[in-house]
Amino acid sequence: MGGTFDPIHNGHLASAQTVADIFQVDEVHFVPAFSPPHKQAREITSPFHRFAMVALATLPFSGFRTSTIEVDALEKRYTVETLEEMGRQYAGAGLLFIVGTDMYQEIGTWKDYRHLFDLAHIVVVNRPGFPFREDIAPFRVLTEKHPVTLPEGPSAGNAVFYLPFVQQPISSTEIREDLKRGGEVRQWIPSQVWSYIEKNKLYS
Ligand code: ATP
Ligand code: MG
Repeated sequence: MGGTFDPIHNGHLASAQTVADIFQVDEVHFVPAFSPPHKQAREITSPFHRFAMVALATLPFSGFRTSTIEVDALEKRYTVETLEEMGRQYAGAGLLFIVGTDMYQEIGTWKDYRHLFDLAHIVVVNRPGFPFREDIAPFRVLTEKHPVTLPEGPSAGNAVFYLPFVQQPISSTEIREDLKRGGEVRQWIPSQVWSYIEKNKLYS
């Protein structure tokens, strides 16, 4: 699951957990972007702070990892490059790319987007307010949280799955705006991330 994670919130964690349960994955790698190519209009929090918050949020989950792959690059990386590199790092493993309906809507504008579908299964989680685009690729809808067995190994018949039942109406944008107003959006952020934000006076 790639993202800006500015900051990471419970919507990211809950969506990832749902996908992990359904596909019985060994690990979920959260990949904070160094500098997201599509997000240069606003001031983005340092990748090191964003990485730290992801690390704190994922620590209690044994299967959740925080990936340095994009921040290590120290320059912007495209998802297709990251998936290629992960495919090399985890040769022999099947990859799933988790993405919300908001990002999936725009996937046609991403670098080499067709190649993404060769590199990984794409798991699209519903994001309230953002309809699933059906015209991008053939897909399968999963109507409930029921285990799905994927073919073993890399690129063995990659598919697109859509999970309409994911309902996590929260965004980092709303969290940042609320914090700027002095709000207390604690219920949407793991407590250790909240402490980190307070301690480092982020978003104030
Ligand atoms: P921002 O408001 O700054 O864009 P965000 O909440 O959208 O932040 P991102 O880091 O942009 O978080 O998202 C990373 C990934 O997680 C994207 O694929 C996005 O679609 C997905 N995602 C984020 N929030 C949710 C949510 N509430 N439900 C489902 N998917 C989500
Ligand atoms: Mg976003």
